[in-house]
Amino acid sequence: MLQHDVVIVGSGLAGMRAALEVCGELNTAIVTKVYPSRSHSGAAQGGVAASLANEAKDDNWELHMFDTVKGSDYLGDQDAIEIMAKDAPTTIREMEHFGCPFSRTPEGKIAQRDFGGHSRPRSCYAADRTGHALLHTLHEQVMRRKKDLTIYSEFYLLSLIIKDGVCGGITAMDIKTRKIEVIRVRSVIFATGGYGRAFSITSNAFASTGDGIMAAYRVGLPLQDMEFVQFHPTGLFGQGILVSEAARGEGGYLLNSKGERFMEKYASSRMELAPRDIVSRSEQTEIDEGRGVGPNGKAIHLDMRHLGREKILERLPQVRQLGIDFIGMDMVEEPILIQPTAHYSMGGIPTDNDGRVIIDDKKTRITGFFAAGECACVSVHGANRLGTNSLLDALVFGRRTGKTVLEETRNKDFPPVNEEEEIGKVKKEISDILDSPGTESMNDIRNSLKDNMMDRCGVFRDKTRLEECLKAVKGLQARFPKGKIMDKGTNFNTEIIEAIELRNMLDFSEIIVTGALAREESRGGHARKDFPKRDDVKWLKHTLAAKAADGGIELKYKPVAITKHRPEERKY
Ligand SMILES: Cc1cc2nc3c(=O)[nH]c(=O)nc-3n(C[C@H](O)[C@H](O)[C@H](O)COP(=O)(O)OP(=O)(O)OC[C@H]3O[C@@H](n4cnc5c(N)ncnc54)[C@H](O)[C@@H]3O)c2cc1C
Repeated sequence: MLQHDVVIVGSGLAGMRAALEVCGELNTAIVTKVYPSRSHSGAAQGGVAASLANEAKDDNWELHMFDTVKGSDYLGDQDAIEIMAKDAPTTIREMEHFGCPFSRTPEGKIAQRDFGGHSRPRSCYAADRTGHALLHTLHEQVMRRKKDLTIYSEFYLLSLIIKDGVCGGITAMDIKTRKIEVIRVRSVIFATGGYGRAFSITSNAFASTGDGIMAAYRVGLPLQDMEFVQFHPTGLFGQGILVSEAARGEGGYLLNSKGERFMEKYASSRMELAPRDIVSRSEQTEIDEGRGVGPNGKAIHLDMRHLGREKILERLPQVRQLGIDFIGMDMVEEPILIQPTAHYSMGGIPTDNDGRVIIDDKKTRITGFFAAGECACVSVHGANRLGTNSLLDALVFGRRTGKTVLEETRNKDFPPVNEEEEIGKVKKEISDILDSPGTESMNDIRNSLKDNMMDRCGVFRDKTRLEECLKAVKGLQARFPKGKIMDKGTNFNTEIIEAIELRNMLDFSEIIVTGALAREESRGGHARKDFPKRDDVKWLKHTLAAKAADGGIELKYKPVAITKHRPEERKY
């Protein structure tokens, strides 16, 4: 059995920012299924929000807070949003002092650009590689403090160990050897990122399969607001690879088959820079009503040509190259084909404002278990996240969580852990998969899941399609135990890892669809054609989905924290 004071699962921005607070002080381990600098945070392009007021002199945290509350369609918890908006400027300056190479204004300040739903230009960026710059900066800082730090790369979290409301550690598999270890700890932080891979068109990394949230769910903890999945308006057509919102922030146009800037009809004041939920729905409506472009009219044009080669190469070099490499289109020369892509998971493990995992509206907590970043639901994004608020969320709440863990772990004992029992449980699950009769193809199950989620639980939803979707997901869950694993070996057996990821995706998809079916309204990223209006009387509340005694899903609800801004109609 391995033993550390703290284990942090996930080495993206949230995990590494939390690590900075604890490593050096407590014996810390980072467990990551990739390598620290390969975490999905490194793919973030457009920027990180803070009201530095470098471009718009009148910007301040209150405006940032209001934009975020409105962007969340009033489902975000306003106490948490206030903390994030207030902390943002210090957080960015801290990253600057750590050495993050932000792009600059002519007078040498951190440059800021427009982003959807933000009323002022407040996205701080490093060209269109902001996540890469932030992640590497944090990695350097963590390595500087590496006293008492162990990094387990290519280690795969299998389960969370919780007994009587107290967390004692995790089990994880060394991907290189398939050896399973119990890591016994005084505190666990989950920073395992999002779960966009369950959709066929997605911007998410292969690792974004919701392993952390499902480990929490399996030990009986609830997940919050899982029905809210964000579709980003500009994924490369047919691929989903992201073209940052920075493209529209810099002035890009969205055009339909008639060459019209159709956003005029849907959000005339913000146009292409309305929040993502609104722009994605507008695109989907154009496509559904026959005004799409490209193969079968399933795409939309993103036109950047009027910005000119020089500006595109300076501000958007990466996304231009992605277009050339993946769909053979150069945005300098021609409008490129895009479509909505599954991008961000608003839901996750419910926490308080300091990263403590809580299980109901009464704030009952799980001792020694914390979560931060995209896998957590604080909730600062509510029903729809504004661009650039997620890197900020990961940094702000990563730091707060690290601080809480440091305080609470110092004088805490190691809870008892039964190594044999914990290893036995996960070994059985793995051998069930390895030794299955193998009459079904795991690839077919995975592809069907993704197509099904994309077609029936995507940008627009309705009762009939959601019911079909749920039935299909249940059918796929029933096929999973018969899935075939060809590689029975112990050496880098990625097939078994992919099978476990698939099981996680099947199970959280069921939760997403169940929550979406129940929520009979449209709010933020959840748009029901059969209930097109937001319904604050019935639905101004967070969903909590937990495993019922019969193995099904039990839905409960908890109130939204409303402090400064009463809900009003959301217009742009
Ligand atoms: C293409 C793209 C562009 C984006 N651009 C922006 C942007 O410009 N601005 C913005 O604010 N947001 C952006 N986002 C969103 C933002 O990048 C993410 O929400 C944020 O980086 C999440 O950080 P994280 O630390 O929570 O998780 P991640 O960076 O996703 O890291 C998750 C970590 O968990 C580990 N992990 C997961 N499962 C396991 C397991 N079973 N065992 C061990 N380890 C595990 C992984 O190895 C990884 O280290 C973008 C997202 C994408 C996909």
